[in-house]
Amino acid sequence: MTAPRPVPVARSTSDGAFSLIVAECFGIVTPTFQGEGPSCGHPALFIRLSRCNLTCTRCDTKYTWDWSQYDPATESSRRSVTDLVAWAASSPVELVVITGGEPLIQQRKLVPLVQGLLAAGKRIEFETNGTIAPEPALLVDGVRFNVSPKLASFGVEEAKSIVPAALEVFAASGQAAFKFVASTVADLDRTAELASAYGLAPVWVMPEGTTAEAITATARILAEAVAARHWHFTTRLHVLAFGEARGR
Ligand code: SF4
Repeated sequence: MTAPRPVPVARSTSDGAFSLIVAECFGIVTPTFQGEGPSCGHPALFIRLSRCNLTCTRCDTKYTWDWSQYDPATESSRRSVTDLVAWAASSPVELVVITGGEPLIQQRKLVPLVQGLLAAGKRIEFETNGTIAPEPALLVDGVRFNVSPKLASFGVEEAKSIVPAALEVFAASGQAAFKFVASTVADLDRTAELASAYGLAPVWVMPEGTTAEAITATARILAEAVAARHWHFTTRLHVLAFGEARGR
């Protein structure tokens, strides 16, 4: 698969200097939870940014980057930082998850967003693939990174998805959890190699799957081996609770 190419996006704001390319925002009209990782089960708002620098074949958000299947003019728009902060501030929910795609592609414009959200009393979790080191301005109190390095079994070349220099910045930050999507015990062996090589901790394992049945089956394959390594284990609560519905 070829790399995603830059494409024009619809403009919904004149505030272009401080605008982000957004796929969707959800969690206010239809409330939901953080479905994965250390905050699994917490009420959460989601800002999903468009675009990714990887092309995983098992990606479940291809509408953020795969323009052979989706129309970027339909699937993304520019939203100003001011609009996004006001949107989040209109909800009492404290946790804002900034996800993608790969959100750190747009990290320079994320700095004012993070500052605005923190000033509004929110805490922030980034969901990132771990290939782009965060700017120091994002490594502040109230921000956590859920770093999900993609293994070859997820349908991506590890030469692209494993970026040691970036992983080492996340590991040294003290603000990252490392969430590996796994299908087999062999994936756990590869996770152990990477965790050892780059000092990645804490390790979280999440069973791969986009249906409750697949997640449950894979969880049962992995559970004993995850427990034996004293790692953390997470499900995908939003899939168990809401199925494959977008915006949950
Ligand atoms: S890194 Fe994440 S968003 Fe990007 S292609 Fe892979 S699974 Fe999809």
